[in-house]
Amino acid sequence: NQQILLKSRPSGDAGLDNFELASVDTPALEDGQVLVRHHYLSLDPYMRGRMDEGKSYAAPQPLGAPMIGGTVGEVAESRNARFQPGDAVVGMGGWQLYSVVDPDVPGALRKVDTSHIPLSAYLGAVGMPGVTAWYGLVRICEPRPGETVAVSAASGAVGSAVGQPAKARGCRVVGIAGGAEKCAYVVEELGFDACIDYKPHADARSLSRAIKEAAPKGIDGYFENVGGMVLNAVLSRMNAFGRIALCGMIAGYDGQPVPITEPRHLLTNRLKLQGFIVSEHMEAWPEALGELGGLVASGRLKYRESVAEGLAAAPEAFLGLLKGRNFGKQLVKLV
Ligand code: NDP
Repeated sequence: NQQILLKSRPSGDAGLDNFELASVDTPALEDGQVLVRHHYLSLDPYMRGRMDEGKSYAAPQPLGAPMIGGTVGEVAESRNARFQPGDAVVGMGGWQLYSVVDPDVPGALRKVDTSHIPLSAYLGAVGMPGVTAWYGLVRICEPRPGETVAVSAASGAVGSAVGQPAKARGCRVVGIAGGAEKCAYVVEELGFDACIDYKPHADARSLSRAIKEAAPKGIDGYFENVGGMVLNAVLSRMNAFGRIALCGMIAGYDGQPVPITEPRHLLTNRLKLQGFIVSEHMEAWPEALGELGGLVASGRLKYRESVAEGLAAAPEAFLGLLKGRNFGKQLVKLV
């Protein structure tokens, strides 16, 4: 087996020297366990938080241990009656080629059906990022027909899954993304009504003017992935009684300050701003996955993947994700 270990904790920007590739023996299976061969590893922004020692909603990743992460693959060996070799499965196998799993631990391993949905999608639109999009939109933004919903990091794994469920609820959907190519994709492929490239804008005031053009009736529901300038620009365009799902603030994950510069908008417009962690809402997953699976299988919900080849490429691809070099769901292909 090969693994990527967390070698050291970053100070400021994470770097390649924080990771280490190691070869280890795979332990023999005990009764009840299965050996999973990973086909794809998911790279996600939350992993940056796990690299730090500081207090967060999740415990820090131990030094010298394989990086944690979602994986899809197939059962290679089984000593569990519910799983057969060849079964397609999704789990949290981490940054390694194989994992030994006890599927009787709740949430440890789930069989998936790849007849209408590709295996890799269970790490994206029909997996944790998709449910994140669905939860923030449906349960926090609570969109109503005729309203305008905005989403930042709109071309990414989470952002791209917000658009179609919002359209299905009768909303106008405006994306915000970095660069003309991502914005064209968000409108032409993902079916958003408009998308704003934040990169040419030097400050929140300038970006706010562009948002006004794309959302002339103001914004009722905002799905936030980025923080900083983007959040400040959208805050000034929120309608009274608007709802903001605070999903992520990736602009600050390497330690950059991301202040809310004019909190008065929260008061004057009587806004709701609510953070959430998708793994704390397991009760919503079946309904979310049902809707997302249907949208993907029918071709209405499109998604895009950035695929790095081979386990050794994972650290570089992860650092790229934190800098916006990914285009769509960032995966590492292992088989
Ligand atoms: P993405 O696929 O969206 O990739 C990250 C994107 O963020 C980049 O492609 C880039 O897009 C954008 N970005 C990166 N750095 C910056 C920056 N400094 N300023 C502005 N934009 C930046 O990742 P995910 O879809 O996996 O995650 C999106 C967000 O959702 C993250 O904040 C993540 O932490 C959060 N999340 C939260 C969960 C929860 O339970 N609360 C669960 C899952 C994800 P661009 O080029 O367009 O700027």
